[in-house]
Amino acid sequence: MDYLQFLRGLPGLFLVLEPAPPFKIVDASDEYLRATQTVRGEIVGRPVLEVFPVSSLCASLEEVIRTARPHAMEAQQLRGDSERWWNAVNAPILDAQGRVQLIVHRLEDATEVVRLRRMEQEAHARIEAERARIEHDLRASEVLESITDGFFALDREFRFEYVNHEAELILGIARADLIGQSIWDAYPGLKDTDFGRLYRNVMDTRQPGSATGYYEPHQRWYDVHVYPAPRGVAIYFRNVTEQRRAQDEFEQLALESETQRRIYEVVLSNTPDLVFIFGLDHRFIYANESLLNMWGIPREQALGKTTWELGYPEWEAEMHDREIEEVVATRKPIHGEVPFEGTTGRRVWDYIFAPVIGPGGDVVAIAGTARDTTDRRTAEEAIAAQAERLRQSDRAKDEFIATLSHELRNPLAPLRNSVAILRMKSQGEPEAARLGEMMERQVNHLVRLVDDLLEISRINRGDFALRRERVRLQEVVRNALETCAPALQARKHVLELSQPDALVWVDADSVRLAQVIANLVDNAAKYTPDGGHIAVRLSVQEREAIVAVKDNGAGISPEGLLHVFEMFNRGDRAPMLTDGGLGIGLALAKRLVDMHGGTLGATSEGLGKGSEFTLRLPLSTADAADAGAATPQSALGRKRVLVVDDNKDAADTLGMMLREMGAEVQVAHDGKEALDAFARFRPSAVLLDIGMPRMNGYEVARELRARFPDVPVSLIALTGWGQEQDRTRARDAGFDHHIVKPANLDELQALLASV
Ligand code: ADP
Repeated sequence: MDYLQFLRGLPGLFLVLEPAPPFKIVDASDEYLRATQTVRGEIVGRPVLEVFPVSSLCASLEEVIRTARPHAMEAQQLRGDSERWWNAVNAPILDAQGRVQLIVHRLEDATEVVRLRRMEQEAHARIEAERARIEHDLRASEVLESITDGFFALDREFRFEYVNHEAELILGIARADLIGQSIWDAYPGLKDTDFGRLYRNVMDTRQPGSATGYYEPHQRWYDVHVYPAPRGVAIYFRNVTEQRRAQDEFEQLALESETQRRIYEVVLSNTPDLVFIFGLDHRFIYANESLLNMWGIPREQALGKTTWELGYPEWEAEMHDREIEEVVATRKPIHGEVPFEGTTGRRVWDYIFAPVIGPGGDVVAIAGTARDTTDRRTAEEAIAAQAERLRQSDRAKDEFIATLSHELRNPLAPLRNSVAILRMKSQGEPEAARLGEMMERQVNHLVRLVDDLLEISRINRGDFALRRERVRLQEVVRNALETCAPALQARKHVLELSQPDALVWVDADSVRLAQVIANLVDNAAKYTPDGGHIAVRLSVQEREAIVAVKDNGAGISPEGLLHVFEMFNRGDRAPMLTDGGLGIGLALAKRLVDMHGGTLGATSEGLGKGSEFTLRLPLSTADAADAGAATPQSALGRKRVLVVDDNKDAADTLGMMLREMGAEVQVAHDGKEALDAFARFRPSAVLLDIGMPRMNGYEVARELRARFPDVPVSLIALTGWGQEQDRTRARDAGFDHHIVKPANLDELQALLASV
């Protein structure tokens, strides 16, 4: 025990342990107890691991037993003392045979050693880190030099620490001029920009950030990314002005095309017309609202389908397929019309397919529109039907007038002849003469009306021809005035005639032209109060002959002037006023003048201010040589005339009239009688009615020419119709002349006198 007593007093901290597990504590040095603040009685006898639960201790103790040599453990700290470090060494106490008798677990203060070692380690780590950093920086700057972004690093004071080559290029400044300088000094404009705020923010928060913006001083767009770096911030940036511009343009374009698309959509969706586009595969690429409505299906169900898939009737789908192919092949639009049964019922559509030509010149699609023409069509049909009805009734009216006037002529002929005879017979009997004169006037008026009617309806039917020849206009005017003389006298009008001395020649149907002029003068007489003044002036201007008929009568309103030449227009006169005609005189006159290649116009300064009608005709181009006018003779001398007409009254009155004129006359009432009479009587002229039963006028004429080829006789046809073909036919049958019934006495007399 002494020796244990001695141990206890030894300097140093140690425990004495049994040399076998559980390595109970045998004793401890006083210094150990002090240092660990333990009491000997509490630890002696307990396994050391209970007191010092240090895992490495057990292994170390076993090592000591195995090798019988001391073993050092890692430096450790004691419980409750974090200041100091201890080295533990386990050393055997051997007996004389070298066996381990006890183990001394000894602690040495290693605090200083540990501190020094730590310092050394730290220094080493620092050196190592610095080396790594330099290495990294070197490597990094290589990378940074090669990247296409601008890059610079700022230290915590925002001073340029590093600037790569690209940044030099972008900023246009040498890095030597930047390194060490504060970015706020180098770029004073930066501070209040998004970029400036971003740099400060990343510096403070140590969180990366980025921004794209316009930097006014450079007039450029920059894209900037900022990262926290160990000694400040690292900034990558690039000039994106070009991309930005391109993007702006693209966005603008996109905006515009989108706007356009919307515009088209609105326009196309708000028309009742159907609008559609086919792809080259015959599938609908587009269908507007109206078309979708007509189909009654939503867009997504319709687009991409063919007409077949949309349930068009087979014939129609086939037709459209053909049409699409045609448009693609010919690059020309096609039109069509098709009935289609849609949600709006059965409608008729007028459609057009047109090629859409791509930039390469190929047809890339087929665009079409269709318009509902059902209503228009119905209306058109109604109008056409109405027009047809009007045409029919117009034709019916013309036919009625033609038949009526023709039928009226037959009783007029004998009536007129009778009146003439009566007048001749009543000479010396004033009362009868007056009545005869009146009757003649009325009958003549009636004849004129019927003639006008007949003529206008013939003109309307294109069944009328002029007999034009070179005539002296002066003579035509005189004839016309002669016709009008009774009317002028009756109204006590003063007639003023002025005409050039030189003869004025025109190519005209003298009878018709006289009729036109007479109509103008008659109207002037009719529509001018008694005792008026009527001027007829004949003149020549340039290549035209002009006949102007001017009165100081009723005049015509401007409105009336617009319609004065219209058929059945009776101007401003009250309908019941009987003094006028049917309102066809001027219409007929104008038609006749038109047929002569001339013009007929009217002017008036207004109601009550008189009127002037002006007729213009082209002058005759032929030489004004001999053409002598037929001079009517007052008597027929002893001309022998054979009158042939199945209408007994007409034949007899005409015969009597001719006798009154001094002719020798015989009358026959049919062809056979005529032939017999001719043989006996040997006339110099035969007046032959055409429309006779059994043997008509043509047959009689042919027979006469055949039987008496050498007898000089004038054959004169008398017909109700004055058509050109009748005249030709008459000439062919051997007639020399042709006169329309009822014969105008003057005309007839002139004709007979000349044969
Ligand atoms: P109508 O048989 O009625 O005379 P016209 O065709 O000759 O038919 O004339 C048509 C209308 O023109 C007449 O009804 C009349 O109102 C008007 N008119 C013709 N000539 C004259 C004129 N000289 N002065 C005034 N009005 C005239």
